[in-house]
Amino acid sequence: MQNILQHTAFNIVEVREDFPILKTLVNNKPLIYFDNGATAQKPKQVLDVIIKYYTEENSNIHRGVHTLSQKATIHYELAREIVKKHIKASSVNEIIFTRGTTESVNLVAHCFGKLFINKGDEIILSVMEHHSNILPWQILCEERGAVLKVIPINEKGELNLNEYKKLLSAKTKLVSVSHVSNTLGVINDMKEICALAKQKNIPVFIDGAQAIPHMAVDVQDLDCDFYCFSGHKVYAPTGIGVLYAKEKWIEIFKPYQVGGGTIKTVSFEKTEYADGPLKFEAGTPNIEGAIGLAAALNYINEIGLETISAYEHELTQYATQKLKQLTNVIIYGDVANKASVISFNVKGIHPFDVGTLLDKQGIAVRTGHHCTQPLMQYFNIPGTIRASFAFYNTKEEIDVFILGLEKAIKMLS
Ligand code: PLP
Repeated sequence: MQNILQHTAFNIVEVREDFPILKTLVNNKPLIYFDNGATAQKPKQVLDVIIKYYTEENSNIHRGVHTLSQKATIHYELAREIVKKHIKASSVNEIIFTRGTTESVNLVAHCFGKLFINKGDEIILSVMEHHSNILPWQILCEERGAVLKVIPINEKGELNLNEYKKLLSAKTKLVSVSHVSNTLGVINDMKEICALAKQKNIPVFIDGAQAIPHMAVDVQDLDCDFYCFSGHKVYAPTGIGVLYAKEKWIEIFKPYQVGGGTIKTVSFEKTEYADGPLKFEAGTPNIEGAIGLAAALNYINEIGLETISAYEHELTQYATQKLKQLTNVIIYGDVANKASVISFNVKGIHPFDVGTLLDKQGIAVRTGHHCTQPLMQYFNIPGTIRASFAFYNTKEEIDVFILGLEKAIKMLS
């Protein structure tokens, strides 16, 4: 076995030192954390800025004239600038802080739906969407008498773009598709999906929850109308997320939730709402979350997203080859163009049983439907075992995982 330390473009030992949780023992075994698709671990660079914020600067933002409030405001707004640069938006006015991907989808379904969705209109999703990118649109369609249309996939898990083209029509009011499937890891050709929609002047929403941790994203190059992600999947805290929206939408959308922070003036007769993203950030926001997110983005940018992508790709290929050597293992979404997510099953064994036995060996994988029940229905399975890797994982960990899996299969057969 080639030692991973010899050929990585970054120092994996140093990187692992940045993540204190990786030293944890689980069931008396060194933790092997392969559940990064659900949430990623946090480096001390992120933990440190949060402790610093609470020990030195804690204060409410935007409305205070005192020093701490001004410092907190500067850091919160600097975080918006860092997010803007990270996804190459054209203005900070296009960056709304939310609680995460789920809230971002709900926000757009609510605001866009109120203005543009009527009886008989159609919204296009894909069969591989996470429930968070299905349910807000489904409720909207139920309320408005609109219809959901679904892009099918082939047996490998790739979107059928010919069918997508056929679904686009004068009735289509919006397309909402995930950049990367959380269950299959398949990377969708969002540039093409956006370009085809643009030909008919249809806006596109991209769920980037699983793309942002693994690849560089340029919203202007994609030419999408909306892009969203969750902080916690990209090494930042939970409870913070981002919605990118082209400025024209920010201008025409009415507020989603209202309250302190969203206004210019209020009287009992009339309220004038703030311009820009503040219109959508009602109440005291997740200040430490935004600051932590900025630290996380700075951290991954220091390693470099190209380096991260290449290394994670290598891990994924290595694990895929090893899994293929085991009998009775079926891999879903076995395509070349994928992020570091592998979903698989072992014939005749329930995924939960495998997950439980792996946990006994300190190995964290996810089992179940991964909030993609329609995709499970497509494959006609109750769930899968999902191993999802981050750049702090190693081939040595994959070797231990494969041995653990073999042991589990033996016990369960
Ligand atoms: N979309 C995708 C593709 C996801 O993977 C997830 C989480 O797993 C979500 C949406 C929901 O993200 P959150 O729970 O952070 O809002």
